[in-house]
Amino acid sequence: MAARKAHVVGGGLAGMAVAACLARRKWDVTVHERSSELREIGAGIFLKENSLRVLEELGCHDSVMSRSHWIKHTFINDRPGHYLRRFSYGPERVVTILRAELHRELANAAAKWGARILLSSQVTRVSPMGMVVTPSGEERADVVIGADGIRSIVRQQTGLETRARPMGSGSTRVIIPRKEGDLIDTSGEYWRGHKRVLVAPVSKDIIYLCASSREGDPRGISLPFDIGYWSEAFPELSDYFSRIAPGIGVHHVHEYIKVSEWHRGRIVLIGDAAHGQPPNLGQGAGMAISNGQALARELDRTPDVEVALKNWERECRKFTLQVQNWSIGWEYCMHRWPLAFEGLRAHAVIALANFPPTSRHWKRVYRGVQSDDSIGL
Ligand SMILES: Cc1cc2nc3c(=O)[nH]c(=O)nc-3n(C[C@H](O)[C@H](O)[C@H](O)COP(=O)(O)OP(=O)(O)OC[C@H]3O[C@@H](n4cnc5c(N)ncnc54)[C@H](O)[C@@H]3O)c2cc1C
Repeated sequence: MAARKAHVVGGGLAGMAVAACLARRKWDVTVHERSSELREIGAGIFLKENSLRVLEELGCHDSVMSRSHWIKHTFINDRPGHYLRRFSYGPERVVTILRAELHRELANAAAKWGARILLSSQVTRVSPMGMVVTPSGEERADVVIGADGIRSIVRQQTGLETRARPMGSGSTRVIIPRKEGDLIDTSGEYWRGHKRVLVAPVSKDIIYLCASSREGDPRGISLPFDIGYWSEAFPELSDYFSRIAPGIGVHHVHEYIKVSEWHRGRIVLIGDAAHGQPPNLGQGAGMAISNGQALARELDRTPDVEVALKNWERECRKFTLQVQNWSIGWEYCMHRWPLAFEGLRAHAVIALANFPPTSRHWKRVYRGVQSDDSIGL
């Protein structure tokens, strides 16, 4: 029997992961990436249990881990010298890696399992019958996977009801050289008013910084990064900021996407195209990768594609939306909290962290796993 065909629109982390998972199951997979080269921005990314398990299946886990940095402890510092929360992850895996390295690993895995990766291949039209149109022609597939990010053209063309909402805040990401004495196996968040800085080592030589503020704060969002302004707000981090090389840094506005359904006919959405979210839980890519694996599994075992897409959405949607909602809630807490009651924010966070039902739920969404048992919570 001829292999079933999948066209994946978008060669980002979500697209490469689902392409690799399907190709491993002997599907005939084509990835269309509109850029002329595979690129990721110069920043770090957190990977947790859910995505690491997919890498094991794809055979690139060891290679990713050899390029990753294991984070053992974390903290939130909500005023100079004061730690709102500190904890250790224990044996559980939370790692950081440069985004470009992760992307390369996933692209290599997709190619190794036999997926074709077409660059400069911008998809201009899709249809629920499984048709994909690019400048080089029209093709039909058993399934079309829209992994084309937050402004997804695939989503627009399905006509699914979509709510896309900018959250009024954004993040600037940079990497800097690591110095002796910097954080090594620990990541930390620093909060001041509506600003937040994440500091995370991604190797023994590199530190990843992510500085978030409201979009209405012109110096907070400016590029080049305003070292003086951020050092005033976070004097304890001024040494880190002083290492930011001129001209580096990327800024992204935080937004979320909610779509009434993730599939129509033979089209399905995955990753930011389906559930873009503010980056507070470090789970946007993690959920995309683990949902990609679940999608490949379901498509492979259910001959009727439309039934498979329905089953998959039933399996993944509820938990993914819970992760997204926590991330949105965290965003309000961080960037919209009335500053007149800033002290109360700490109490609210501690109460949520210590109240058993919310604490257990938080642990699951933070790690991207639905069942407590599998990670020994
Ligand atoms: C500040 C910040 C920090 C983050 N930190 C983390 C973290 O620590 N951990 C984590 O798991 N997640 C994190 N995320 C989220 C994560 O980055 C995203 O969820 C993930 O990168 C989305 O991947 P994607 O493949 O769905 O979309 P994208 O990365 O947007 O990829 C879409 C691809 O589709 C291509 N494309 C678009 N249209 C077309 C078309 N018509 N034809 C062909 N190709 C097309 C684009 O060129 C692009 O390559 C963070 C996000 C931000 C903003």
